[in-house]
Amino acid sequence: MEKEHCVIIHYAEIALKGHNRAFFEKALLLNIKKQAEGLYEKIVRISGRLVLYYAEEKKEEITKALGNVFGIHHFEFGRVTGADMQSMQVKAREMFVKKEKKSFRVTASRAEKQYPFTSQEIEREVGRVIHEELGFPVSLDNPEIVLAIEVVENKAYLLGERVEGLGGLPVGVSGKVVVLLSNGFDSPVAALRMMKRGCLPILLHFHSYPYTSKDALENVYKLRDILSRYSPKQLELIEIPFSGIQQFLAIKVPSEFRIVMYRRWMLWIAEHIARQKKAHALVTGDSVGQVASQTLENIETISEIAALPVLRPLAGTDKEEIIDMARAYGTHDISKLPYDDCCSLFMEGSPRTKTTVEEIKKIEEPLRLMLEEKALQAIGGN
Ligand code: ATP
Ligand code: MG
Repeated sequence: MEKEHCVIIHYAEIALKGHNRAFFEKALLLNIKKQAEGLYEKIVRISGRLVLYYAEEKKEEITKALGNVFGIHHFEFGRVTGADMQSMQVKAREMFVKKEKKSFRVTASRAEKQYPFTSQEIEREVGRVIHEELGFPVSLDNPEIVLAIEVVENKAYLLGERVEGLGGLPVGVSGKVVVLLSNGFDSPVAALRMMKRGCLPILLHFHSYPYTSKDALENVYKLRDILSRYSPKQLELIEIPFSGIQQFLAIKVPSEFRIVMYRRWMLWIAEHIARQKKAHALVTGDSVGQVASQTLENIETISEIAALPVLRPLAGTDKEEIIDMARAYGTHDISKLPYDDCCSLFMEGSPRTKTTVEEIKKIEEPLRLMLEEKALQAIGGN
């Protein structure tokens, strides 16, 4: 027997124009199937929406699973029944009989014009049962309960409870990006913001093990696992040993320029990997002005090394907003753990807050071949 408990999943129409539609829907379905694995009976498509059938006891788990899927605008829990008036009335009565007597209204819509009742007729006839037989007061303007009825393809969906989704686009539809992932607050959130726009991230982490601890690496694995909850598959994490390059730069480059040089060579390596993996952009967790390496001048100097676009989804956000997002996405508790980052290795004094491309290139030019060799070595040893 077909399950009567269902969730109608609505997605953002704006992304559905033209030939992208089928592609978008397929990706969304893949994401939902992964998240809700083992929780549902079947998923079917009806007039631009998805209907997921589930066993009643799985409701909480379904809510959690769909709450991790980018591309869902909102979803509604309800029951499905036949589209004849009597079936709808019986089902509505079942849904209301145990409810507290609050004011209500019925809001109906029908997909097919040849359906024998108008929306108003459905609203009036189903509303009448709830009002007259069960004693619920009607309020058209300010109801406490709204029963939505959608009639599609000879079925009626009676929907009572709406949950907002994450919005955005399904992970995968926009292609791949390489995300430079540290274990701080910012870059995991940056990765999630790009996932929200349909990007599939390849995570790239630079470590200076054994100068930095194994725990720092463990945290990165945990972050990878949390980010993967929002993806149809476990995300790839590439670890790059960075201390060789840092040691070399520590000998050759004055301390005040090192952070900018570290960042440039992180981007150089990230771009190399992006080309191998057919990713179209690099992503960092920079927020303008947050630290010395994130002044506009240093962002300019750092970005210059890469030809691929460097996306900085948090450029215009405050730390507090980033931490709020980290809480909502679930990365906060890992990111807040103390760790040693590779970037503080071989740093003395304060880094320059303003550098120019010209001065950096002058320092870098004679080292360039050696740096490229070391960078390729670091990638190869991976
Ligand atoms: P985060 O909270 O993401 O660590 P932050 O505010 O600490 O950021 P920085 O440490 O200066 O700032 O790092 C800026 C960006 O550079 C990070 O958001 C990240 O994208 C990248 N980055 C820094 N360290 C690493 C690392 N060890 N591996 C990969 N990427 C890194
Ligand atoms: Mg950091």
